[in-house]
Amino acid sequence: MVLIIHGFPNSRAALRFEWAWQHPNLSRHLRHVPKKKSRQSVFSYCLMVVSEMLQVTPWCRLPLVFRWLHQELAGDYASTINLPAHMSLKCGNVIVKKIGHGQKKNEKDKRKSNNEEDNGINYHNDLICDICYRKLDKTEKIMCSKENCKLIAHLICLANVFRIDKKIIPINGICPSCNTKVLWGDLIRKKLGCNIDI
Ligand SMILES: [Zn+2]
Ligand SMILES: [Zn+2]
Repeated sequence: MVLIIHGFPNSRAALRFEWAWQHPNLSRHLRHVPKKKSRQSVFSYCLMVVSEMLQVTPWCRLPLVFRWLHQELAGDYASTINLPAHMSLKCGNVIVKKIGHGQKKNEKDKRKSNNEEDNGINYHNDLICDICYRKLDKTEKIMCSKENCKLIAHLICLANVFRIDKKIIPINGICPSCNTKVLWGDLIRKKLGCNIDI
């Protein structure tokens, strides 16, 4: 194994990507990709295919991470891989850390006390979306990926703020609370309880 591509929104999306990568001639998204030439190695063909895949829909909009597992390969094949600007290129093993229950609870308590302090109102369990000011159920809640930002919003409200090009999945946007540019993929990873720096 030489590389991993991760950061898919769910396992279904990851499996579809894997299938298309293994069957580029059958995928309707990859009709433009030439067939493997007889003198071309399987390895360089697979790299060329994946580089093309990351440039076309539906994959070009995902917050993917292209990770070489070995430093030497990253150097040798640097010029073969073109990534859209919002994707990241990393090197080394994947270290995924799930946030433990204790930490999550602390964050929740911190958030609650922040709300109470800021507004002078005790919301108890009622969260309010910072964008539409309507009540917010925690299943539809999204927070900013910046540590000190207190933004809480409906996922759909923030997605609408970020979707300036009207595409289904936002790529990035300016957080209305801290005015910082954040990646949509980082917000989703935070929502799912994954460490952002994977
Ligand atoms: Zn809202
Ligand atoms: Zn923010």
